[in-house]
Amino acid sequence: MKLRYPAIGIAGAGVALALLLGFPASWKIAPVPEALAAVSNWQPAPLQKPAMPVQPLTVFAHTVVGLDTAGWMAEPPARPDFDLALLKTALPIETWSGTLSAGETLDSLLSTAGLSAPDRAEVALALAAEFDLRKLKPGYAVEVETSFSGTLRRVVLSVDAGVQIEAVFADEVATRKIVPEPDLVLRAAATTVETSIFVTLASADVPARFAVDLAEMLGGTVDFRRDLKGGERLQLMWREATLGDLVIRQPRLSFAALTVDEALYEIVWPDDNSGNATIFVDGELLRVFAQPVKGARLSSVYGNRRHPVFGDVRMHTGVDFAAPHGTPVYATAPGRISFIGRRGGYGRVVEIAHGSDTMTRYAHLSSVPEALAVGDRVAAGDPIGRVGATGTATGPNLHYEVRVDGRPTDPMSEERLAEAASAAETNPKALARLEDSRAQFSGLLDQDVATAMSERL
Ligand SMILES: [Zn+2]
Repeated sequence: MKLRYPAIGIAGAGVALALLLGFPASWKIAPVPEALAAVSNWQPAPLQKPAMPVQPLTVFAHTVVGLDTAGWMAEPPARPDFDLALLKTALPIETWSGTLSAGETLDSLLSTAGLSAPDRAEVALALAAEFDLRKLKPGYAVEVETSFSGTLRRVVLSVDAGVQIEAVFADEVATRKIVPEPDLVLRAAATTVETSIFVTLASADVPARFAVDLAEMLGGTVDFRRDLKGGERLQLMWREATLGDLVIRQPRLSFAALTVDEALYEIVWPDDNSGNATIFVDGELLRVFAQPVKGARLSSVYGNRRHPVFGDVRMHTGVDFAAPHGTPVYATAPGRISFIGRRGGYGRVVEIAHGSDTMTRYAHLSSVPEALAVGDRVAAGDPIGRVGATGTATGPNLHYEVRVDGRPTDPMSEERLAEAASAAETNPKALARLEDSRAQFSGLLDQDVATAMSERL
């Protein structure tokens, strides 16, 4: 009988050989490293059991090579997984980086990077999904990653303000815009009013638009033209969103203090734009500046106007704030919910009673919080619904109305509401916010640089 190894690692053949050559039972095959065995033991197809005397084979198989005694041979081990993705990421990557110079095109830069014309076209197409390539500027950086074999893997275009456009080339091309998180920096300045607040701010290197914010807040309280004679002390603290040295958003006032004729006016703005700005005089709360929609555009004022739907001149009984559908609407003063429901042309309405004679009405709402019910107490700044266009409305807006003894009044000159809002804020919370702002301000000014306190947005 002539015997051949049918394949490397077929134990049955080895056993048969041992039998034939009469090796002693104590003979041992040198151990094969496990990893190698795993690969070499793999077999493409199940083996046929050779016709052999079963009894001695079983005995020897057990002692010599450790075969499964219950059958002829254990299940062939599974072929080790060959993970293509893993291999791809483990392969070396070549990275090329360059910068657009004046007059250079993206295509020529990518050509310098060694990319073929079809690859360059694919890169341009991918980047254009997230960035208008006509706005490319000299100085923009491009990074190109290719596999060792030259296959395009990833391209990153760095544009203004730390923004990056990343295109990844795999089975599918994926492009995304990576916008870094800015730092929120608190800044402070102290100055003396010269000719006007606007001029003073501009010369003190403080955003001059704060003059508008101050006028809005102190309007009706301080007449800037009449009361300011020069020499008044003005202190401001504001927030800037920065990326490195770059201010990337409109700065927002956080605290202001102005001394006019021995009276100290202080304003505290909410940090998150959700609450109400509060005005203090000599440390006592003067009024709360409450708006039903934050930062919305006043689209129609109170009084006679040509009706936008019916075309005739009618009395407009409130003011309109144009805002996107779904924008939150807030109570402007504390009170009790007196009505929730539909009122003809007003659409979906919420009404709040402030004491016995004053009522505010919020109309055209798209929705009202389910939890809100008639009789509920609300505070100034509590959400009571969302902007919509229910009833007679040409587009999403909030119609906001103030009625005193049932008669509509101009919400913008309604002092009683402001007083009601202030009454609600005459609590330790408002004064604590004032104390916090004062402390923050002096803390900032005590440092030589007016910039400190970095925090995440
Ligand atoms: Zn209206």
